[in-house]
Amino acid sequence: MRSATLWARLLGVEQAVVERVEFDEDAEAIVVAVRPRKSAKRRCGKCGRRCPGFDRGEGRRRWRALDLGTIRAYLEADAPRVCCPEHGAVVAAVPWARHGAGHTHAFDDTAAWLAVHASKQAVRELLRVAWATVGRIVARVAAPGHDTTTLGRFFDALGPQRSEQVRLVSADAAEWIAKVVAARCPAAILCADPFHVVKWASDALDQVRREVWNAARKHGQAGLARELKGARYALWKNPEDLTGRQRRKLAWIAKVNDRLYRAYLLKEELRLVFRLKGVRATVLLEAWLAWARRCRIPAFVRLARAITEHRAAIQAALTHGLSNGLVESVNTKIRLLTRVAFGFKSPDALIALAMLSLGGLCPPLPGRT
Ligand SMILES: [Zn+2]
Repeated sequence: MRSATLWARLLGVEQAVVERVEFDEDAEAIVVAVRPRKSAKRRCGKCGRRCPGFDRGEGRRRWRALDLGTIRAYLEADAPRVCCPEHGAVVAAVPWARHGAGHTHAFDDTAAWLAVHASKQAVRELLRVAWATVGRIVARVAAPGHDTTTLGRFFDALGPQRSEQVRLVSADAAEWIAKVVAARCPAAILCADPFHVVKWASDALDQVRREVWNAARKHGQAGLARELKGARYALWKNPEDLTGRQRRKLAWIAKVNDRLYRAYLLKEELRLVFRLKGVRATVLLEAWLAWARRCRIPAFVRLARAITEHRAAIQAALTHGLSNGLVESVNTKIRLLTRVAFGFKSPDALIALAMLSLGGLCPPLPGRT
């Protein structure tokens, strides 16, 4: 085997041409200069379409690859931009890494697999990465395609006969999902995924917190602003998981800022709607909507509007429960994952970790099949 081919195999980048291998004394790492094969060149990083060149981008770039024995390894290549008719000037796709990633596919998949199977400390020390980085990787790996084409491909794989038998579909309320589902499984009732609806409420709450924080800063209340900044997790967490300190923080918020505290209660009550069953849930949702509509907190007035708009799908989720037992057990697992995901810095990474762990999306370790 030629040594260039051997290096490509070693790094799991058979789609690339290895140009040379060096040891970088400063980085104490092996740096492998590569380029995409001709067929993989000049493709849009977002859609993969072949496009005319745009410019040289920001020159050479490095991607962290899996360690070689005890030594860190990087791939290095040009990162030119292409001009995509749909996406404009975009950094060209590379076959060894996801778009916008600083790590190779093999590294990403290994990190994702480890995040599901090993302890936080094991992942961090073994891969020599920060936990926040693992969060970003997990978010990338769990969202290989979030669009009509990918969903269409899913129904292609399911086949028309089985698609027609689908009765209930649980999904976030994105319009494109509703369209594809209506076209592919006309018999199905679309249920809004409770986890996503509750996330809307968390987002609205976070917006209120930012507004209150900005107002405090503008009015020179530095102490208040600092305390509010630290309140994020107390507001975000489920009350049953709060630490003593976070409980005190909430009590403090109730005292100093009525608006923010009401926003918190609105979020919590919406979460409660999805934990109740049947008629009680419907009644509480009705009461929640009435409260939110006239709460005079713009983020929640908007949320009430969005929920009214998706009322049918949300009602379907409440009526069919998509087996409440299933949701409950998943919720318990998600609560455990929330602890693991602490330090990820974005709720998206937590959702991604849940998809990897519970949604069957965890990639196999590279090179095992
Ligand atoms: Zn494109």
